[in-house]
Amino acid sequence: MALISESITSPANPLIKTLRALDRKKTRQETNLFLAEGARLVRQGLEKAWHIDTLIMAKTSLERDHVRALADQAQSAGARLVNVPDRLLSQITRKDNPGAVLASFRQQDKAPEHLSKSGPAIWLGLYKIRDPGNLGTILRTADCAGLAGIVLIETCCDPYSVEAVRASMGAIFDTDFATASFEAFNTWRHCEGLPLIGASLAGTARPDEIAFQDRAVILMGNEQAGLPGEIEAACDTLCRIPMRAGADSLNLAQATALMSYEAWRQQGYPGAAR
Ligand code: SAM
Repeated sequence: MALISESITSPANPLIKTLRALDRKKTRQETNLFLAEGARLVRQGLEKAWHIDTLIMAKTSLERDHVRALADQAQSAGARLVNVPDRLLSQITRKDNPGAVLASFRQQDKAPEHLSKSGPAIWLGLYKIRDPGNLGTILRTADCAGLAGIVLIETCCDPYSVEAVRASMGAIFDTDFATASFEAFNTWRHCEGLPLIGASLAGTARPDEIAFQDRAVILMGNEQAGLPGEIEAACDTLCRIPMRAGADSLNLAQATALMSYEAWRQQGYPGAAR
């Protein structure tokens, strides 16, 4: 198929203004789009069949084989193809060296029921977490540790923010996630028969003392406040990762990795690459 890309050179062009504004939650909500920067990320989104809206390419990169291949794939998926001077790519990404391509993809909004799956599986609940860097790192960990999905409970930071997408290193396209109130999340996990294992400084059991069984949800708390008392009370078990006496707490993303890997270890690392 012949590749047809429009040329845009003005920062005042409406498309460029919208893409640039995708670093704001309000614009992401209004457009239902988010940005993926770099060929690797864009390829991952296309391979996972996420809906691509626009592919932006640096004019200077149009003859490169990998950019042409990506443009071909994006065009087949129905994307608008646009080429711009490097300075416009820098303006959209606010980076000095922005890479050759970026794309806007359509967001997916799921309820917890869409994360249900049969067989052995561990899910993650994140309660009111605030830091997009943590969220992106947790998405990446969840992908590596083969988690079944993540539920963002109550108001959390936006997984589609530029910072979360960057930190996820592409796991935004691979890890299933949903948003829910605590009530809806708790109803879902009861319906699925999933024990709720809260990670908390108030826990008494160590992760290796807990039987995660084949199926469970691990619940992690907010970076500052942790899990409130009433949410801890709804957990079946509270688990505390050992720390040196006097230490404050682990970083949320690191605590999540330790909990997730203990659960996966107990299952015998199903699905792990050899
Ligand atoms: N001051 C907060 C508190 O009292 O919970 C610390 C919050 S901590 C930075 C963020 C989350 O990471 C916690 O809610 C918990 O889920 C998890 N976490 C951090 N350190 C932990 C530990 N040693 N054991 C279990 N969970 C931990």
